[in-house]
Amino acid sequence: MPLTNKQYDAIMREYDRRQYRNYRTQCARRDEVFQKIPRIREIEEQISSFSIAQAEKLFLDEQGTGADPRALEDLRRGLTALRQEKELLLKGQGYPADYLEMHYTCPACQDTGYIGRRKCDCFRREEIRLLYSSSRLEEALSKENFSTLSFDVYDAEQKAAMPAVIGACQRFVQTFDQEFQNLMLYGPVGTGKTFLTNCIAKELLDSSHSVVYFTAFQLFEQFSPSYGDAGSAEEQCHDAILDSDLLILDDLGTELLNTFTVSRLFQVLNERALRRRSTIISTNLSLKDFRDLYSERIFSRITSSYTLLKFTGSDIRIRRKISGSP
Ligand SMILES: [Zn+2]
Repeated sequence: MPLTNKQYDAIMREYDRRQYRNYRTQCARRDEVFQKIPRIREIEEQISSFSIAQAEKLFLDEQGTGADPRALEDLRRGLTALRQEKELLLKGQGYPADYLEMHYTCPACQDTGYIGRRKCDCFRREEIRLLYSSSRLEEALSKENFSTLSFDVYDAEQKAAMPAVIGACQRFVQTFDQEFQNLMLYGPVGTGKTFLTNCIAKELLDSSHSVVYFTAFQLFEQFSPSYGDAGSAEEQCHDAILDSDLLILDDLGTELLNTFTVSRLFQVLNERALRRRSTIISTNLSLKDFRDLYSERIFSRITSSYTLLKFTGSDIRIRRKISGSP
């Protein structure tokens, strides 16, 4: 699934907009400062003529046509003094030293999307968001997030158990950038696993992380040898699976299992752990059934490096239908 031309253009247009916005902000800041501290405009003019003179002297020096070393040193000193004066003037009026510089949204690529010929991380994140934050996820996220979470839907057993589970999910989000961590949500159908997974996904997407969502069935479809064209499209998809900030694997245990899928799953979990990329697994299976269905190897990989969150109680969706609420 590579980007379509339209998607690529949309990303590039956003970079143009960003550059223009940041340029306008810089112009406004300069106008403001020049009005308040007119000396700064003079300093900037002097800095630029000094810099040109310095470049000329360096050029002569390089040609071996003998630039005067003392003159060069004077220029350097002059430049330093001017920069210091500018900084002091800015500080005197309560401005940060870099107030007049261009402020990029992404300093790494200076809002071009590329570092040399390589796509910047910010481009990759946007690409992954476009490709894989499928409509299913985006639509669900508008309804299912921490702000719409309500205890009213839970039965008595869930009301007792859920605060700890929800707390663990919130901690997962809060410490996401500092700690490498994984979650496994397990328990019967309809006990709120997907809802909480969506809450986490929404928070992380909102803070510009790349989140990739697959049901187990979709994941193995991606890996099946007959799927899609070989080459870059497939590589791109595998990159997203292995390299996204968060991979959500929903409904594990519903896919068709064979030794190929089991070993692929192990590879994915392992590779992500090596790259210190977080994964959330959810399954309707009990831990025992999970271990019986997959291998001991996968089970111990998960129990050793995942926080296990147990969901209990009766099916929320069925209860809602019976009580007639939406
Ligand atoms: Zn960037």
